[in-house]
Amino acid sequence: MSLTDIQSQITAAETNAGRAPGAVTLIAVSKVQPNDRVAAVLDQGHRVFGENRVQEAADKWPGFRDTYGDVDVHLIGPLQTNKARQAMTLCQAIHSVDRPKLANTLARLAQEIGTCPDLFIQVNTGEEPQKAGILPQDTDAFVAQCRDLDLPVRGLMCIPPVDEEPSLHFALLAKLAKRNDLSGLSMGMSSDFASAIALGATHVRVGSAIFGARTPA
Ligand SMILES: *Cc1c(COP(=O)(O)O)cnc(C)c1O
Repeated sequence: MSLTDIQSQITAAETNAGRAPGAVTLIAVSKVQPNDRVAAVLDQGHRVFGENRVQEAADKWPGFRDTYGDVDVHLIGPLQTNKARQAMTLCQAIHSVDRPKLANTLARLAQEIGTCPDLFIQVNTGEEPQKAGILPQDTDAFVAQCRDLDLPVRGLMCIPPVDEEPSLHFALLAKLAKRNDLSGLSMGMSSDFASAIALGATHVRVGSAIFGARTPA
């Protein structure tokens, strides 16, 4: 598939769901992809990308920005507190706010730097022990805590368990967001972005369907 195929599938999914064209932001997940594939997508005019690791983003994006101008980079992978400052200066959004310690660090740095990227709280909708994220039953309290810290919380994010029907997780995330008056929903990847859009996704994170398979590192 290609960028234009994915864009037209997103438009179709928006229309099917009765949502406005352009309601969904496509985050092209460029982690681990060779630079020539990333450049090809930049050449087509796309300017919103997702990265899993702060270091990889720091190695990649300053150079591309020199060539292509402003690019929004969204951090979608786990963030260690000692990388938070770097992430905040490099990224326009962080989708992996998943614990109080990180929220406290982001709040302190936001005061110091004077700005903060858009934040999404990662919810472990499948309650998987090995997976990051706030548990569904703790989400309301954590959203409130982040708001008390004056953090710009835009929405919720989830990565459904691989072996479960993703739409159940998308529906749960949408319910939690609505209950907390959050408009942003970061959900849906290459294999399931259409169903995520049907359930209200505002940001879909699509990697391999745009760039091709990731070669294992
Ligand atoms: C890698 C990754 C994606 C993209 O996955 P694809 O299946 O390649 O579309 C989306 N979200 C997160 C959090 C990821 O780590």
